[in-house]
Amino acid sequence: MSEKKRIAVLGATGSIGKSSLDIISRDKDNFEIVLLSSHQSRQKLDNLKDQFPSAVSCLTSEENGTEKLLSAISDIKPDITINGISGAAGLKPSLAAIEAGSHLALANKETIVMAGQLVMGLAKEKKVNIIPVDSEHSAIFHLLKFFTEETHTDARRHEENKESLISEVILTASGGPFRNYTLQQMEKVTVQDALAHPTWNMGPKITIDSASMANKGLEIIEACVFFNLAPDKIKVVIHPQSIVHSMIRLCNGVIYAQLSKPDMRHPIHDAIYWPVTTPSTLEPVSFDSLTLEFIKPDIVKFPMLNLAWEAAKKGALYPNVYNAANEIAVAAFLEQKIRFLDIPKITEHVLQKDWSANNLELESILDTDKNARLIAKKYIE
Ligand code: NDP
Ligand code: MG
Repeated sequence: MSEKKRIAVLGATGSIGKSSLDIISRDKDNFEIVLLSSHQSRQKLDNLKDQFPSAVSCLTSEENGTEKLLSAISDIKPDITINGISGAAGLKPSLAAIEAGSHLALANKETIVMAGQLVMGLAKEKKVNIIPVDSEHSAIFHLLKFFTEETHTDARRHEENKESLISEVILTASGGPFRNYTLQQMEKVTVQDALAHPTWNMGPKITIDSASMANKGLEIIEACVFFNLAPDKIKVVIHPQSIVHSMIRLCNGVIYAQLSKPDMRHPIHDAIYWPVTTPSTLEPVSFDSLTLEFIKPDIVKFPMLNLAWEAAKKGALYPNVYNAANEIAVAAFLEQKIRFLDIPKITEHVLQKDWSANNLELESILDTDKNARLIAKKYIE
């Protein structure tokens, strides 16, 4: 790289934010942090500001904090924006980054689930790349690179054939802490039980989503949008070791997989250097005493999976509603207002309304998000 890449890290105080700052700090010759954001962790943000004095910082819980962040993105125009904000709050900053012509290294899956069509359309128009950071999608994205660019001379024609080339995308899931629980046992689990993820160390919302498999549900929808594939082509397999991050089965029946340690710094590294594959100092997978298992998911114990496939098939505003209802249910579970198994019940209740209106403009997406949350809250009460 000749000039330093100017990077924004949104959600800098979170789990993805911390991993991003670690990766960027390893290569100060090539990267410079120009913008940092957090929501309410003022002290942590101030500490980061001391570490990266040339970066602008935004605390979004402050009055007009979100607006300030959005204008900072559009003024600064980072080369790359890493979006590690949790939840629906990540959508507007993603759009602001794309509008500003910044490439987006996207961990905030809600951006794609809520507004896939809008976001992908805008990225195309503004000629910016959206590189997935979610480990499964990162795996598929980089696997596909080998079939669309490097091994094929006529890449463009190959891209057009993607639909017939890929027969399945297979997302792996750790199965979370309740993989071996019976439904009866799952009725009684506590917040603490659900927060104890066996392989990944992540923020609280996504950790609960991993326990209910809503995280995989969101990722099913995310994969349909990112790779422009029908929901039927997205499969899920439980892989408790979280070493295989996802697989693609091509039309010849052969499966290709991506393996690395369960460490989000891998997909972050790959996203910020994309399209170049560069050496990393992260610990590689060792095959000494490694056993890999693959198990069919139990769709009765984890109804959030089928709800996601249905929402993806129905399209329109259903994916957005799946996300909004689940966010409200997870917040209520974290506040101990509902039981763990109420999460899918609440989500299903909200999805049963008619969300087939096909207006996928930002205003309609945000209105729907609000309505779905209100319905979920009313149902909880
Ligand atoms: P964390 O909860 O650890 O961090 C969230 C970050 O976003 C914090 O910096 C937080 O600031 C900020 N934030 C919270 N609420 C708002 C808001 N309303 N407006 C603006 N900023 C806000 O989350 P994770 O790092 O675990 O996850 C971030 C995103 O990445 C999620 O979309 C998640 O699904 C996705 N992801 C995460 C993975 C992981 O390993 N953690 C793996 C794959 C995807 P503050 O500290 O001040 O609250
Ligand atoms: Mg993931």
